[in-house]
Amino acid sequence: MNLYETDLALREALDREGGAWGAERVRELGEIAGSADAREHSRRAEWNGPRLHTHDLEGRRIDEIECDPSWHWLLSTGIEHGVASLPWRENRPGAHAVRVALGHLWGQLDTGVMCPLIMTFAAVPVLRKYGGEAAAEWIDRLTTGALAGQAYTEKQGGSDLRRTTTRAIPLADGDFELHGHKWFVSAPMCDVFLTLAQTDRGLSCFLAERQAGLEIVRLKEKLGTRSLPTAEVELRGVRARLIGEEGRGMAPLLENVNHARLGPAVAPEMRAALVRALHHARHRTAFGAALAEQPAMRNVLADLALDSEAATATALRLARAYQDYDSPFRRLATTVNEFWGCGRVTGFVAEALQCLGGNGYSEQSGMPRLLRDAAVHPIWEGSGNVIALDVLRAMAREPEAVEAFVAECELARGGDHTLDRHLDRLKRTLKTVAEDGDPQFLARRVAEDLAVGFQASLLVRHAPAFVADAYCAGRLGEDRGRGYGTLPSGIAADAILERALPS
Ligand SMILES: Cc1cc2nc3c(=O)[nH]c(=O)nc-3n(C[C@H](O)[C@H](O)[C@H](O)COP(=O)(O)OP(=O)(O)OC[C@H]3O[C@@H](n4cnc5c(N)ncnc54)[C@H](O)[C@@H]3O)c2cc1C
Repeated sequence: MNLYETDLALREALDREGGAWGAERVRELGEIAGSADAREHSRRAEWNGPRLHTHDLEGRRIDEIECDPSWHWLLSTGIEHGVASLPWRENRPGAHAVRVALGHLWGQLDTGVMCPLIMTFAAVPVLRKYGGEAAAEWIDRLTTGALAGQAYTEKQGGSDLRRTTTRAIPLADGDFELHGHKWFVSAPMCDVFLTLAQTDRGLSCFLAERQAGLEIVRLKEKLGTRSLPTAEVELRGVRARLIGEEGRGMAPLLENVNHARLGPAVAPEMRAALVRALHHARHRTAFGAALAEQPAMRNVLADLALDSEAATATALRLARAYQDYDSPFRRLATTVNEFWGCGRVTGFVAEALQCLGGNGYSEQSGMPRLLRDAAVHPIWEGSGNVIALDVLRAMAREPEAVEAFVAECELARGGDHTLDRHLDRLKRTLKTVAEDGDPQFLARRVAEDLAVGFQASLLVRHAPAFVADAYCAGRLGEDRGRGYGTLPSGIAADAILERALPS
């Protein structure tokens, strides 16, 4: 099926957030992503995982990664359709929304291949702002097929990057030479990497091309994202160019991470899992009726559909916010959305898997892979606590970001009384946290309240009333449940399911 045609929430959001001009392209990729061929490539890339060849026949280092042709097909088709670069090639309003919509479809095929596509997307703005000569050389390449990676995490820490131990030694011609190691480098066959190292002036950001001296020690044996090679790397005199100011490496790093957080990451997996669950439930009978007609199952499926639609709407709204990268709203909304989506996706996929019963536990259903891949999100772009603490930091440093965020939620005031009450409570919570002696203890709670308020406000403003009412009742109402499938009675489950996937 065409993954775009059948996703009403995506189509509406693309239109709303300024991407209507790209609908034809998104439709075209939706046709490819939904084809049997694409599914077969996705399956092969997963099962014929990458292999590392460190040396050639005579013992010389080669550090080559061999990937299945299907991996290359997934990567090159994603690149050709603009998943890695559309807004950098076409600077027009709505370009971020179009790219996120394209990624939303492509991410349903393979989380692994999205990693280099997203890292490449996120490298370009860093080079534009901080890149100097390197920018002139690399931006063109990165928007026409070359790939950029991130080599930040070291053994002693991925969250606390100020403890980086890699040393950068200045060379006579102005470049530097890097000596040290990196503990997680995904897609180590990228053409170029952003990395961090210490100089005499402190932590600094560098751009290093793939070259001799960048030695791959081994590939990680990972829970998921198995199509994607992730390596441990030694840097033995790797030539690199300084990005930004020496000693001020955190600025380019944050620019890089913030663009990577635009993803899209979790919404595609939620959508892929939901579609499989719904399809199965409509065609499987038990106790004399289709599963999708059994009330307890309708509750579960409708509950999942609400989260999936909310994640899609949020991803596209955020994409529009990236048109004004420096806006205070964009800064806080990115982090809040990252926290909530990444924290939610694994449980979501596990619940969808359950809808398929035993077959959901079998590889051929595609669900085990989705579950494995989903588990990476709360780790690789910053884990739950770290992102929640980022939210607190942003609140303390930039009160105008909180104001802008709350003002956006307030646009929905009067549309649903449970949301109104939540927004009143939220203001009190924000005040309490600001005055609390131990605010970090409340970090996750605040991030969650902000995220759910934001999603509810988007749905109240833009989704049909039966979706918004159900979301508000199920997430904010006084008699809300805890797990999936606990929506209160009176919810229009049939309408929600028909909207999620026309039968
Ligand atoms: C599949 C995969 C691919 C990856 N690819 C890359 C890559 O390409 N490039 C790259 O640079 N990195 C990559 N990473 C590494 C990833 O970014 C790090 O694992 C991540 O940043 C966490 O760092 P850590 O593993 O050192 O955990 P730690 O920093 O040790 O954190 C462990 C736990 O402690 C929590 N924690 C940390 N600080 C605090 C605090 N102050 N208060 C409360 N809790 C806290 C964290 O939330 C986390 O749950 C990859 C990881 C995976 C799994």
